[in-house]
Amino acid sequence: MRLGRSCVVVLGVGFVLPTMVFAAGDIKTKEEVIASVEKQRADLIKLSDQIWGFAETALKETKSSKLLADHAEKHGFKVVRGVANLPTAFIASYGEGRPIIGILGEFDALPGLSQKATPVKEPVEPGAAGHGCGHNLFGLGSLGAATAIKELIEAGKLKGTIRFYGTPAEEAVGGKIYMAREGLFSDVDVCLAWHPADETLADVRSSQALVDFFVEFHGKAAHAAHDPWNGRSAVDGLELFTHGLNMMREHVKPSVRMHYVIQDGGLVPNIVPEYAKLWCWVRDWKRAGADEVFGRAKKIAEGAALMAGVESKVTVLGGDYEMLVNMTGANLLNANLTWLGPIEYTKEEQDFARAIQRATGVAEKGLNGVPKPLEGQEAQGGSTDVGDISWIVPTLHLSVTTAPEDTPWHAWPVVACGGMSIGHKGMIHAAKTLAATMVDLFEDSKTREAIQAEFKEQTKGQVYKPYIPDGPPMLPSHEPSRSAQ
Ligand SMILES: [Zn+2]
Repeated sequence: MRLGRSCVVVLGVGFVLPTMVFAAGDIKTKEEVIASVEKQRADLIKLSDQIWGFAETALKETKSSKLLADHAEKHGFKVVRGVANLPTAFIASYGEGRPIIGILGEFDALPGLSQKATPVKEPVEPGAAGHGCGHNLFGLGSLGAATAIKELIEAGKLKGTIRFYGTPAEEAVGGKIYMAREGLFSDVDVCLAWHPADETLADVRSSQALVDFFVEFHGKAAHAAHDPWNGRSAVDGLELFTHGLNMMREHVKPSVRMHYVIQDGGLVPNIVPEYAKLWCWVRDWKRAGADEVFGRAKKIAEGAALMAGVESKVTVLGGDYEMLVNMTGANLLNANLTWLGPIEYTKEEQDFARAIQRATGVAEKGLNGVPKPLEGQEAQGGSTDVGDISWIVPTLHLSVTTAPEDTPWHAWPVVACGGMSIGHKGMIHAAKTLAATMVDLFEDSKTREAIQAEFKEQTKGQVYKPYIPDGPPMLPSHEPSRSAQ
């Protein structure tokens, strides 16, 4: 069913809507952007497969970033590379004046997730990186939508500026937060983003606030048998810290998540370790909750050091804000998603999905490309630097099916589907939904103003203060830091 100009019913998810929303963009203009995405289909698939193959991790996405930026330049966008002192960050813009509509694109891969486009676990290269979050699709889906809008601005059918943000390192340091620090989002009217998922919906679920930090312990080395009384073990400090953190689990709200890896746990048993290092993330659904748990973790580090007779040091690497949900924007996205209808799959694609579900031990439900309504969306854990952007500019967030229902995320099934037709279909569907929604945003100043009014109301009296430290991002190594001090 095509809904074009219809009134969108206001749906409650525990939120109060300030106004009714109309997807008032011209239906013919929407059909033009859909046709443009179809025209780009082969190109978008080819380029996303290339980025899938590059599988470059955070801040090392040199080839992926260049490929996207070159493609935008070739299509007439003005491209500025290396923005915010991040070599792989860029902005591609077209048009002039207001409104300025931003759209985000990611392209970083995850370490250790190398996988062929097959329904069984089978790395291309064991230990290498893979697109376990589908960011190869994210980048091209958004750029495809931006290109469709650019063509209409060029033809004089839309007025304003379209701006594509090439945002690196989402999986590690949160490139968008560094771009935001440089004021690169400050003049944007509305921003859009999407994310690959195992379901299709206009997101009203928010995301978790996160604090990302190192805890280091410095002790004194000595022979572990000959003169251990001269030594003070940094690993004792680390073990006491993790014990304290794990006891704290009982005394935090159920919404809190805490996870860590040990990056340095000493060298050999016969030396009392003088150095130990832990990499830890704490999360909650609101920034204040994550702050509170982080404050307690810092005290635990001090206490652990005191008990072990060593020194402790806590260093914040970064963190994310929770996503600020804009219900007016979500209704608009939902109207366009409904207008487009479900993603259709072939029997081969459903068989591929079920084979993955069998292999990962979840129910063999196949793929679900039917848009889910705004009400009844289940909250899912996870954080994103899109959350930070949503506190600076009203942000609309879409999820589109690119993987079988319920299969593990940040895992091989997501990589497998992101390199074949299941992922491609999701990417094209995202591009069409975002492009159609942007037609509304360009053409309908009333909806734009309603989105902005809701944002102003939500952020009234709030001060946005990112977690990132001064200076460039600290990129944590995934290898044990043997020589670190
Ligand atoms: Zn992701």
